[in-house]
Amino acid sequence: MKAQIKRWLTPPVFLGDEKKTRRAMLLNVMINGTAIYLMLLALGNMLSGRPSVGIFLFLFDIIGVFVVLLLHYWLQHGNIRMVEIGLSVFGFLWITLVSAKLGTIRTPTTSLYLFMVILSGLLFDSKGILFSTIASSLAVLGLILAENAGLLPRPDYTVTLTQWLTYTGLFGITGSLVFFTLQTTREALARAEREIEERGRVEGTLRKLSRAVEQSPASIVITDLDGIIEYVNPRFSQVTGYSFNEAVGKNPRILKTDQTPLGTHHQLWTVLIAGKEWRGEFVNRKKDGSLYYEAATISPIIDLNGVCTHYLAVKEDITERKHAEDALRIINEQLNLRVAEVEQLQAELREQALHDPLTELYNRRYLNEALLREIMRAERENNHLSLIVSDIDHFKKINDTYGHQAGDKFLVEIAGLMKRHARGSDFVCRYGGEEFLLVLPGVTAACAESRAEKIRQRCAEICIHYEGKDLMATMSLGVATYPDHGQAIEEIIIKADKALYASKHNGRNRVTVWSEDLV
Ligand code: GH3
Ligand code: MG
Ligand code: MG
Repeated sequence: MKAQIKRWLTPPVFLGDEKKTRRAMLLNVMINGTAIYLMLLALGNMLSGRPSVGIFLFLFDIIGVFVVLLLHYWLQHGNIRMVEIGLSVFGFLWITLVSAKLGTIRTPTTSLYLFMVILSGLLFDSKGILFSTIASSLAVLGLILAENAGLLPRPDYTVTLTQWLTYTGLFGITGSLVFFTLQTTREALARAEREIEERGRVEGTLRKLSRAVEQSPASIVITDLDGIIEYVNPRFSQVTGYSFNEAVGKNPRILKTDQTPLGTHHQLWTVLIAGKEWRGEFVNRKKDGSLYYEAATISPIIDLNGVCTHYLAVKEDITERKHAEDALRIINEQLNLRVAEVEQLQAELREQALHDPLTELYNRRYLNEALLREIMRAERENNHLSLIVSDIDHFKKINDTYGHQAGDKFLVEIAGLMKRHARGSDFVCRYGGEEFLLVLPGVTAACAESRAEKIRQRCAEICIHYEGKDLMATMSLGVATYPDHGQAIEEIIIKADKALYASKHNGRNRVTVWSEDLV
């Protein structure tokens, strides 16, 4: 029995449709209220013992019970709209009929129209209010007219148009109030819903941001305007060794070392106080005393009114990068050193490749390149270029008599002699075993001849002391000149060689300038 009553009283729930469920709850209250009302009315009738109205009201009760059962059936089957229409129509008919039967608009029943206006407002919104107000008004008018026409029992005092207008005004005011209340409630609800949605979104964003900060691979520190730490993220604790509780309330100075360049902190505060963002690097100390490098971006947090409330530091541990950079710098320095050494070595090798190791004069390889260059220049500048070729007379004898080392020593001495005779853009090279070539750019054949003569004389004067012996030798020389004796460099060399050969042939220790007679 208890379970059945409970089931009867419980409104249906429509999953996923909150609005419909709410309406069903309201209708459920209305139907049950009507049922209780009908029961009380039946009880009252029985107790009052008024036979004339008793039968009539009893009939009405029967109809009422039937309607309540029907409405309850529709409600339980989700036919909300039918319940709403049924309840409204039944309400109006019932009030009007009961009013007519009980003595028109003087009975308390007439006031029930107000209840109908409110109910219609709740169920059908402004249209319901309008309709029910008009219907109530017409019903009251009908009742008044019917009474005046003698169709209804006439009371002992008259009702006039004033009552009708009063009731109509009352219904209208009630309806307006209900409408206003409904409207305001609905707007407030919509606003609240929007706010809840917005708050949910903001909270979602905040939750995401908070997670991002918590899980950030960068250290994050928030301080107040005095630099007192209010928040550090887990990465900060991981890097520095200071837990959240140890860091909060302290000044970031706990990390400071004298290794950070002087003036960094001063500059940082100057920038921050000016409301700008500061970027830079620190050398900081962890809780365990070890040092680490940190790249930091510190910026003011500005609130909606444009006032700076906090400072936010986002920092990255760059110790490994710094160490890698240091290592790279050392490697680079060493590499540069090696490169310089190699370059020097290469330069030395290049030099060596162009020089004769014994006399340190240029060798034949250099000569070939240099002569080509010089003849081109002489051509271009329309100038002379003379060659003096020299060969030591009977040098084999020195080697054979005093040994090869003695010969070397003599060669070095002759090389020195040749070098001393080279001036300006002149250059000497060791042309063969004991043959030397002196290149004289811009020098005529006559001039070259006199210089060759001087060399010959100096050579004849040379005397080298070697292991108690005096080594002496003479020198034969040949001279040829561009453009007097030829155009191509090979031709000039051949002619200088031929002139040398002539010197040898004519008794050695002499200078010969190329001439056509030598052919
Ligand atoms: P000539 O008057 O005809 O020139 O007689 P010569 O003995 O000088 O003959 P030649 O010029 O043909 O001989 C060159 C000699 O020079 C041959 C070789 O033993 C010697 N010689 C060549 N290069 C070197 C060297 O680097 N050191 C030494 N000690 N002797 C060398
Ligand atoms: Mg020779
Ligand atoms: Mg010789």
